[in-house]
Amino acid sequence: QPGLYVAATPIGNLKDITLRVIEALREADLILCEDTRVTGKLLNAHSIKTPMKAYHDHNAARVRPEVLERLESGARICLVSDAGTPLISDPGYKLVREVRDAGLAVFTLPGPSAMVAALSVAGAPTDRFLFAGFLPVKSGARKSELEALKAVPATLVFYETGPRLASCLADMAEVLGSRKVAVARELTKLHEEVREGLPGDLSAVYMEEGAPKGEIVVVVHPPAEDEPGAADAEAIIEQLLEDHSV
Ligand code: SAM
Repeated sequence: QPGLYVAATPIGNLKDITLRVIEALREADLILCEDTRVTGKLLNAHSIKTPMKAYHDHNAARVRPEVLERLESGARICLVSDAGTPLISDPGYKLVREVRDAGLAVFTLPGPSAMVAALSVAGAPTDRFLFAGFLPVKSGARKSELEALKAVPATLVFYETGPRLASCLADMAEVLGSRKVAVARELTKLHEEVREGLPGDLSAVYMEEGAPKGEIVVVVHPPAEDEPGAADAEAIIEQLLEDHSV
């Protein structure tokens, strides 16, 4: 079927690719990717010969009209990113928007995403979470962003890099206080690990050990149950008891 196929690729372990994704990449007329060298390796591993074209922040505006034209004339085009699910802290949002606005088909080929992988092993509540992508690089801007997220009654999920991890955790300690944090690193790879603790303690550990290598997701547990909420519950119980004691 013609249309844009948004396809998830592995976040480390090359075996984490679905049968549908392999089939779609093989049968597509074109694969849009961030970096043809990175995606080239994946295609090689599966003996896929489909032509690739780079689609990244720097050429996206120029490439989109071409892509739309090809879709209009019935092409099957796959969109992939270097790792994980496109559009999740990766390019693709404007393309999907324009394809949908043009009334053309967009299909999902779901699979790995580091944020879901991290949530699935971090041991933080998952009934409600907010994915906040990358925090600002500068501490001041980062703290304002954390301040804005502080009251959100949900688990928070961030992408982070090794060199920034310790200072990011220090800012979390300052702004979010003692909310438990899980640092999920190198998921699906050889050195996969999850470290849990308070942000201040973890920051000190990473300061001492030096910046950890590899890719990182930081999962922050939700804020403690709201005090006013708890007080409300007590008031309701008291009222009920009073009503019954008459
Ligand atoms: N689209 C991707 C996804 O769905 O996960 C995310 C792309 S974003 C540019 C890259 C960031 O994802 C990394 O800096 C890291 O924070 C996180 N990440 C990717 N692979 C990871 C892995 N194997 N383990 C932990 N974090 C990972």
